[in-house]
Amino acid sequence: MNYYSLNHKAPKVSFKEAVINGLAPDRGLYFPESVTPLPQDFIENIGDFSNEEIAFEAMQQFVGNDIPKEDLQTIIKETLSFDFPIVPIEQNIGSLELFHGPTMAFKDVGARFMARCLGYFNQNNPQKVTVLVATSGDTGGAVANGFLGVKGVDVVILYPRGKVSDIQEKQLTTLGQNITALEVDGVFDDCQDMVKTAFLDRDIQRTLTSANSINIARWLPQMFYYFFAYKQMYKKHKNIVFSVPSGNFGNICAGIMAQKLGLPIQHFVAATNVNDTVPNFMGNGVYNPKPSQPTISNAMDVGNPSNFIRIQELFNHDFEALKNVFSSYSFTDKETKEAMQTIYQKVNYITDPHGAVGYLGLKKFGLSNDSYGVFLETAHPVKFLDIVENTLHVTVTIPEQIQSIMNKEKKSIKVSSYQELKEFLNK
Ligand SMILES: *Cc1c(COP(=O)(O)O)cnc(C)c1O
Repeated sequence: MNYYSLNHKAPKVSFKEAVINGLAPDRGLYFPESVTPLPQDFIENIGDFSNEEIAFEAMQQFVGNDIPKEDLQTIIKETLSFDFPIVPIEQNIGSLELFHGPTMAFKDVGARFMARCLGYFNQNNPQKVTVLVATSGDTGGAVANGFLGVKGVDVVILYPRGKVSDIQEKQLTTLGQNITALEVDGVFDDCQDMVKTAFLDRDIQRTLTSANSINIARWLPQMFYYFFAYKQMYKKHKNIVFSVPSGNFGNICAGIMAQKLGLPIQHFVAATNVNDTVPNFMGNGVYNPKPSQPTISNAMDVGNPSNFIRIQELFNHDFEALKNVFSSYSFTDKETKEAMQTIYQKVNYITDPHGAVGYLGLKKFGLSNDSYGVFLETAHPVKFLDIVENTLHVTVTIPEQIQSIMNKEKKSIKVSSYQELKEFLNK
């Protein structure tokens, strides 16, 4: 399988090169040259297959010959060592819980898959690759955990001091081994700027790569969620609608890819917070990115979603075709909190703010009687503990994964300028 750049000014590359490059040299996102639907009888009998078999079937064409079958199977098996249950919320609404991985956010799957691919490609290379990543919270934890102990790869995470939650900080700073956390005296944008500067700096003596959702190895495995959800529902429900809390639109774009592979999905709803660039675009056809605004669903505070271009490519930039299967709505923090309260009062189910935005998306879309709506619950409520506890007046039980790191010792290196980052990287 070859990948082209969506800026169309860079050579086509294989899966391996696309994973290692992250972004194409012309700064475009990579996109697969072709998408071949899976056999109809596979989809019709999906209940007969294990999650690992389904994931292999979905992924194989995108990897091509770059990873042999057995190695890809091993990578998938190691990636998917937890569950993806749908919990019924209302008669025709369910919550697809994507937070049962090690860092309790859905980014675990993409991070674990990408880590193992990169480790595979770099296994015989004497020079290690360094994954350099800036985080405002969730990404760093998932990347750190996903790459922990992967041979041939070092991970350096920059995070803004005092700007991530206690739990998130522990997830970044207590792992050790090949993971180093740099505590930056500044805000997230400062971390991001330092990372960008490092990528362009020819004096950096390490091979650097990034691990955000522009990387195809983090983006594509998110398709699995939609297959696993379908497997749990297809015998009971037709006309399935997915509502995806969206920030950079990588997750929902992977869902649309699953539909391209033949999964019968009736409609997608991209639910956002007040960062409403895409909802506005769906309303008036004008794409007008804006600076991001802070909200309580902060993993979606994105003003210029990087993966939306991939969604448009999937529809050949045909606005009407996109509109037929894709809607997008935006919600305020007030609406989000009210939704959290409504769900809790009705069925005693605690959603995190992101999941609540997804739920609102289904309500606004208006499910018909013969449709079943699934919203993606992208993080465990414990990851947004203060907001959840203050909104619902409950005490959230801290799960084992989180409890065990809370007692570990934080280790970080303080960094206050780009020069200090550079010295660290060239040490
Ligand atoms: C990253 C994230 C999102 C947004 O996902 P995108 O793929 O960027 O649209 C939603 N919820 C949570 C909890 C996240 O961490």
